[in-house]
Amino acid sequence: MRALADRMGRIGESVTSATTAKAKALRDAGHHVINFAAGELDAGSPPSAGAAAAAAAHHERLHHYGPQSGLPELRQAVAEHLDPGDGSVRAENVLITSGTKQAVFHAIFALIGPGDDVLLPAPYWTSYPSMIHLAGGTPVEVFAGWEHGFKVDVDMLERAATDRTKMLIFTSPANPTGALYSPDETRAIGEWAARRGIAVLSDEIYDRLVFSPHHFQSIADLVPELRDRCLRTGGVGKSFAMTGWRIGWLTGSATLIRSIGALQSHTTGHPSNIAQAATLAVIQNGESDWLAKTRESLDRRRQTMLDGLRAIPGLVCLEPAGAFYVFPSVEAYLGKEVAGRQVSSSLELAEILLTEAQVAVIAGEAFGAPGYLRLSYALDDTDLAEGIDRISRLLTTSRPFGVK
Ligand code: GLU
Repeated sequence: MRALADRMGRIGESVTSATTAKAKALRDAGHHVINFAAGELDAGSPPSAGAAAAAAAHHERLHHYGPQSGLPELRQAVAEHLDPGDGSVRAENVLITSGTKQAVFHAIFALIGPGDDVLLPAPYWTSYPSMIHLAGGTPVEVFAGWEHGFKVDVDMLERAATDRTKMLIFTSPANPTGALYSPDETRAIGEWAARRGIAVLSDEIYDRLVFSPHHFQSIADLVPELRDRCLRTGGVGKSFAMTGWRIGWLTGSATLIRSIGALQSHTTGHPSNIAQAATLAVIQNGESDWLAKTRESLDRRRQTMLDGLRAIPGLVCLEPAGAFYVFPSVEAYLGKEVAGRQVSSSLELAEILLTEAQVAVIAGEAFGAPGYLRLSYALDDTDLAEGIDRISRLLTTSRPFGVK
């Protein structure tokens, strides 16, 4: 008898998490790896997080089990933070989860089952298809490459939809591309989903990391008639350098949130009270100066990255409007020789970059987009410049590459 259940055959380890861990381990072992793979900011969390966590650790109430859907004061603070001003988001509409990844999984697991299709605009975040498979559903990819600005439209979705379509996953700003749907594009997709009676899972984890003149607007706020069938995921991890605290949230109708809270009560239970207290402090403080500085410094590094990659012949690199990734097409290098090796795929190119130039990137294959690479530019300036230089030298010379 096989040890693992059938469903495990449909998934592998998260490529983003595994590559990031490998790059960090190589660095810890003394190798000068430039880590473009990590999906997180390179700063420490705002000091208010640590101060609140230290204080919380001394509150006996927080040493014990709390409400399974999260601390009431945090649910309330998240509701106030997300409410568009019409009282449509209240504490009962919010579930606090152990990271946003869990919020996404719970939402998919609660709504999707065998026989259900989920429309998945690609390039997509690597874990969505695995989560859909684990729930017993079928991901239906709708691909939009750089020529489409990495964004799908209603016609593309309509062509892919069938009677089995139960959900659309909508991520804006997107990981891995940084693409942001404009309010008009968002509204059109939301109205289409509402008309067809399709649920929308709106992953808003990068909502605060958007560069001027662009603005984030939630599909739930732009299309109020969608609200009952829209679940939104978000959190503090990406924008406040708090990925390790593992706090996220899920918002939606009170009925759905109650059911998904029941699911949480049987699986992980509530997240750590200490991390919830830290999150509460950050939300209550607003941390607008911290955020402004973060955006400004990311914006500068975004420009450095774009200038550097666009100077490499053959790379096509769109300007991302949000998050902290670029997603260049490396199509021009496939079938060519790089560092003395014939490159047949972006997966292979990513491997050559790591072994020959000690540069960690994530291959587009992890996001349903062969022919591309994902690079985070949330690195310090020296590493950023060195990394771009190594990539440039590797791609523009066909000789084996020696790292300084
Ligand atoms: N979401 C981040 C990324 O895409 C972190 C790793 C993960 O959870 O996938 O790199």
